Amino acid sequence: MRWKVGTLTRSEDRALPASISDVLSGSVPEGRKVRIRGWLSNRRSSGGVVFLIMRDGTGWLQCVARRDVLGDKKLDELEKLPIESVLELEGSVRADKRAPGGYELSIDRYRILSVAWPDYPIAKKYHGPDFLLEKRHLWIRSKKMWCILIVRSKLLKAARSWLDEHGYVEVQAPILTASACEGGATLFPVDYFGRKAYLTQSWQLYGEAFIASVGKCYTLAPSFRAEKSRTRRHLTEYWHLEVEIPFCDLKCLLKVIDEFITHICHELADKAAEELRTLGRDPADLARVEPPFPRLKYDEAVEMLQAEGVQIEWGEDLTWTCEKVLASEFDVPFFVTHFPKTAKAFYHKPDPERPEVTLSADLLAPEGYGEIIGGGERIDDYETLLARIREEGLDPADYEWYLDLRKYGSIQHSGFGLGVERMVMWVCKLDHIRDAIAFPRLVRRRSSWSTTMMPMAYALVRS
Ligand code: ATP
Ligand code: MN
Repeated sequence: MRWKVGTLTRSEDRALPASISDVLSGSVPEGRKVRIRGWLSNRRSSGGVVFLIMRDGTGWLQCVARRDVLGDKKLDELEKLPIESVLELEGSVRADKRAPGGYELSIDRYRILSVAWPDYPIAKKYHGPDFLLEKRHLWIRSKKMWCILIVRSKLLKAARSWLDEHGYVEVQAPILTASACEGGATLFPVDYFGRKAYLTQSWQLYGEAFIASVGKCYTLAPSFRAEKSRTRRHLTEYWHLEVEIPFCDLKCLLKVIDEFITHICHELADKAAEELRTLGRDPADLARVEPPFPRLKYDEAVEMLQAEGVQIEWGEDLTWTCEKVLASEFDVPFFVTHFPKTAKAFYHKPDPERPEVTLSADLLAPEGYGEIIGGGERIDDYETLLARIREEGLDPADYEWYLDLRKYGSIQHSGFGLGVERMVMWVCKLDHIRDAIAFPRLVRRRSSWSTTMMPMAYALVRS
């Protein structure tokens, strides 16, 4: 709410600037005159009344223009005004059960702030995904994308608030890096003044350096993966929320993830219920999430999969097909732990009781969504780490600084990385990861390269 109650101005008579969310929250007294500004996103007319569906970033509101109030000329003008034009409307608010959102604005006065061209390319009819990717800069105005962007924002807010309340320090590390973290095959090379650098795949190795300075810490940053597999859940640029925790073993890590994810789910069920419902997700699905999440060892997962007839040998990583099968058996997130060494990156700590498996854990989202978090204990012993780097055919010289961390005050530590779009995809019940982010970077045909790369191309033209 923006206005002050009980001031000595005569504001009662004047229309007060309000956002649509102010109106929809019921905080504007019935009959109160307000002024809103926004885009005309839809319109219909019936017998001397024009219904304008207005959008201002905070919500969507039905505004009603009546011929007997505004007169013929003005009503005709509103009837013809192109969709996406911008209006300032003054009127009084009233509760109306038939109106979407339960409130309606009766328009007394209006001012046109911007007249849109009459050929807005997105109509109410069905458009294919390629067309909507090409018109992404406009499609983000749709109710669906708006809901997703709002949920995404609330998700990140909930994540940050949990981390802040639990004493985690937010830090940043370079995006341009010299060495691989998750394996060379998915690296994006960049020419760095005649030498080769790479776009980061993960903040993790830096995170391990940070813990000896600031302790428990996290970052929220883009990670880049030149994924050749064109699945519905891989972007080439995605937002990665990574956490690193000193003095923490696998058991402690699972507990942190339990509580962290539960907090986010509960916050969304509470604070984004309307948006979730619009997207087809029942907020109760998220309210139901409670720690501890079910834990499944990799061995058990393989047995389950083989029993279902899925082709998998012990030692292989779980493909999406595998995860989908496993994730269909659960209706809450669950862990798969103790992956074999062969399925994980070099820094994962071998289980001292069974060195062929690692103290690792992935968190899988239910309903077939699959992995949203990857994490585990890191190797803290210098010799073990050096041996694993060599075993993977990596050059220890590239990891000199990382090895240093095992020389000077090395301790048991664990961490995890959450794929923000993977989590958004699950909570919003999306069928493709491209809609979990405003401007997705995908492995795509060249024909749509220029449009899916729109903001970047623009930056190049300007410079
Ligand atoms: P996957 O097997 O699904 O490709 P990964 O094992 O490569 O994932 P990690 O290296 O553990 O993933 O990265 C941590 C998290 O980052 C994953 O759990 C996932 O949520 C997210 N992630 C990884 N790759 C991508 C991608 N290409 N697009 C979007 N999110 C990703
Ligand atoms: Mn991957």
